[in-house]
Amino acid sequence: MKKRLVWFRNDLRTGDHHALYHACKDSAGEGVLAVAVITPKQWALQDEAKSKIQFWLANLEKLRDDLSALNIPLIVLRVPTNREVPAALFDLASKFSIESLYFNREYPEYEQRRDALVINRFSQASIPCLTFDSDIVFPVGNILTKQGLPFKVFTPFCRAWKAQFSESLPQSLPVPQQQASLNISASTIPKEFIYAVDTGVQWSETLWPAGTEEAYRRLYRFIHSNFNKYPTQRDFPALPATSSLSPYLSCGVISVQQCLDAIQTYSDDPEWLQHQWVTELVWREFYRHLLVHFPQMNRWQPFKGEVEARLSWETDESLFDAWCQGETGFAIVDAGMKQLKETGWMHNRVRMITASFLTKLLRQDWRRGARYFMQHLIDGDFASNMGGWQWSASVGADAAPYFRIFNPMRQAERFDPEGEYVGEWIPSLGNYNSLQQHDPLLSTSLNRPRPIIDYALERKYSLDAYKANS
Ligand SMILES: Cc1cc2nc3c(=O)[nH]c(=O)nc-3n(C[C@H](O)[C@H](O)[C@H](O)COP(=O)(O)OP(=O)(O)OC[C@H]3O[C@@H](n4cnc5c(N)ncnc54)[C@H](O)[C@@H]3O)c2cc1C
Repeated sequence: MKKRLVWFRNDLRTGDHHALYHACKDSAGEGVLAVAVITPKQWALQDEAKSKIQFWLANLEKLRDDLSALNIPLIVLRVPTNREVPAALFDLASKFSIESLYFNREYPEYEQRRDALVINRFSQASIPCLTFDSDIVFPVGNILTKQGLPFKVFTPFCRAWKAQFSESLPQSLPVPQQQASLNISASTIPKEFIYAVDTGVQWSETLWPAGTEEAYRRLYRFIHSNFNKYPTQRDFPALPATSSLSPYLSCGVISVQQCLDAIQTYSDDPEWLQHQWVTELVWREFYRHLLVHFPQMNRWQPFKGEVEARLSWETDESLFDAWCQGETGFAIVDAGMKQLKETGWMHNRVRMITASFLTKLLRQDWRRGARYFMQHLIDGDFASNMGGWQWSASVGADAAPYFRIFNPMRQAERFDPEGEYVGEWIPSLGNYNSLQQHDPLLSTSLNRPRPIIDYALERKYSLDAYKANS
């Protein structure tokens, strides 16, 4: 029997999985085998957070069960880094007389390089590799300007993306049919490693239960309770107004297309495609397209090198450390950093506030913040994190100009007016009014760290330095 092999990576689901769907379709009853590769050293090199790896493993276990219901055994291989992946996959393919290998594309350069090596190794033995786009709705290269160039600005990209969606009305692929049974046992999934980047944040099964069923539960609850309120409430971190789907989307437990199908079916908004939540999903797509079109972004270089050339980053370990620990004396910044440290997740508005604080007021290199986020985020995603940090530091595609500097006190007054968010993450501030909480000088008397900077002075310094170099 000539079996098909499907390689799972950040696409741990059986529905709307292009590689799995086509492998099952092509197998013509000859059987399908699945594989996932654990690469602990690579994960450490790429700053993957411990909580994210644990979450990924828990989802892999769910996937193994879902695949088993389709008679598809999941084999788990373990090698140190990407370098050993081609040989490990090839040995497996040889052992089981695999006819062809199927997988979905990943877009960061590291992953593309790994995949090219795999394709090369398999092609030497004339084993075809079939690759698909399942992580994004439209393949890179399909959303271009009228001149056939990549978009550098989000709004026209989004408009073109939505126009193409209305025209082509893409749909999710179904879970494939049950396959012919193979006499191969699935692997057990390890739960623990020695984590080279041990950030101490454990994956919490209560906060983030694994599995596609849970992802759909969150999606339906969001559509039912919060979808209509999202445009007005999404910026308020104390409100449970966003979907909290990011870890599930990052591991591919659910796809963007599946989210869109559910909105189309269950929301009562006839203009659902123009909804702000869909626009946020398009940001995710935009950053993936950018990574492929502008490879420098993969190498930790800014999209707008000319803006970064005007800035000079400072290195101050004590300031950076205070930011990491949530001890800056600015309540909303500290609350965000504590939420990240304790749960592995942070609200989007607070990600923007903390990132702006680090890069524009402490003038620390955005790369340090981006690495720290990756090491702690359960939803750590190279494209979105790189995009978010470059945007915040004003060196990214379509980023705000450098002179737009978030005032952490004003942001807190606007988006946490009752101080509920701050009170949740800094309980000692819970009983005070928001004026006392958010004003770093007033809150010094409340057993809080003294503010590590004078906001007005640092703002002026940053603006003067920026202007002097422009
Ligand atoms: C500095 C910084 C770093 C970030 N790092 C990451 C990261 O590593 N991983 C990550 O998934 N998101 C990242 N984001 C984007 C955003 O903060 C999170 O996606 C969002 O907070 C997740 O919460 P949610 O699922 O409730 O989002 P919702 O508001 O419900 O949005 C739905 C989905 O849309 C996508 N999305 C939403 N906003 C954005 C955005 N601005 N950019 C890209 N995709 C978006 C996410 O997949 C999200 O799950 C970052 C943003 C900033 C400013």
